[in-house]
Amino acid sequence: MDTKPIMLSADRPTGKLHIGHYVGSLRRRVELQNSGDFSECYVMIADTQALTDNWENPNKIKENLVEVALDYLSCGLDPSKTTIFVQSQIPELFELTCYFLDLVTLSRLERNPTVKNELKMRAFEESIPAGFLCYPVSQAADITAFDTTIVPVGEDQSPMIEQCQEIVHKFNSLYGETLVYPKIMLPENGSCKRLPGLDGKAKMSKSLNNCIFLSDDRKTVDKKVMTMFTDPTHLKVEDKGHTENNPVFIYLEAFVTDDHFRKYLPEYADLASLKAKYENGGLGDVTVKRFLAAVLNDVLDPIRARRKEYEKDIPAVYKVLEEGTLRAREKAKMTLSRVRRALKVNYFEDHKFIEKQCKAFKKKLADEEKLAAYLAKQKH
Ligand code: ATP
Ligand code: MG
Repeated sequence: MDTKPIMLSADRPTGKLHIGHYVGSLRRRVELQNSGDFSECYVMIADTQALTDNWENPNKIKENLVEVALDYLSCGLDPSKTTIFVQSQIPELFELTCYFLDLVTLSRLERNPTVKNELKMRAFEESIPAGFLCYPVSQAADITAFDTTIVPVGEDQSPMIEQCQEIVHKFNSLYGETLVYPKIMLPENGSCKRLPGLDGKAKMSKSLNNCIFLSDDRKTVDKKVMTMFTDPTHLKVEDKGHTENNPVFIYLEAFVTDDHFRKYLPEYADLASLKAKYENGGLGDVTVKRFLAAVLNDVLDPIRARRKEYEKDIPAVYKVLEEGTLRAREKAKMTLSRVRRALKVNYFEDHKFIEKQCKAFKKKLADEEKLAAYLAKQKH
């Protein structure tokens, strides 16, 4: 098996991608892709997974497929280095999911903290779709089908990777060393692990409607930043403020560089000095928010510009997905053939086994003939 690292990560096409995706995973993927350290890089659009809680609205998934692809390309994912593909078009993934389902208990799925959280958010009550509850298993199939060693994701995905590792361990112990053991790669910067929403909620998420999208224009970003939740005890400029759990400062931690200070707020050298001023009193929320909006617009400008270019040729974007999917399928087929061998469901390819059975049956027939001849002789 190849020992060079292989990267894979994915997003659900439930909407355009937001700045939480960017700092949690997307920025890292582009860095890893360009590092030259990886033998293969995969990025998947998880449309089948998105259907597990959007089955009533397949149009939403269909429409957002290209939006996510545009976000990928405009952030710098390069189809000549990264295979970008669509989950539903690779049947091998669903076959693998089926085998994995036997290795997981319902209670283990119900205990998965991310699933628990998402179930609460979606208020399924008593009618939890089986597909939704089982999506961590299909995610384990997505990861292992490509011999993935590194999964660069946000913190919400930790329980998913743990569940995948358990499946790999169980599979390999039962059927022999077949699957590659994946590891999670979380952002180093704590604020990027789980970027909060504009509303101060624990996570910026498409489903919570609290996002700044990578494709938002400058004015929209300015407006959204101005509505942001900050420190509710910081009412007047002179008031002492809290920077901890304050989304405006968390966003700054995720995005700001010292260059931004030189460009937009030269009276402060860095984030530490801005924070100190806010905490000691004398710095208004509007000043900090204006600065944050300028920083975000600086980061988003080149992404927006590249998006505009790609938007001019949508069939070419679909072509990227189609070609990527073909390549990804070839890889998944290879893994599946290993898995089928390990699970002994490779009936038509196992010629040695057929030959062995052939010999055994021939021997059985010969023995029966011998016995019949012997019995016939005895009768005489
Ligand atoms: P949905 O609401 O449809 O689940 P989402 O906004 O949670 O959408 P996903 O497609 O589930 O986004 O997540 C894709 C990737 O982006 C995952 O690796 C996830 O960890 C990362 N990610 C999503 N939101 C954030 C966030 N707020 N902070 C850091 N990483 C994030
Ligand atoms: Mg999610």
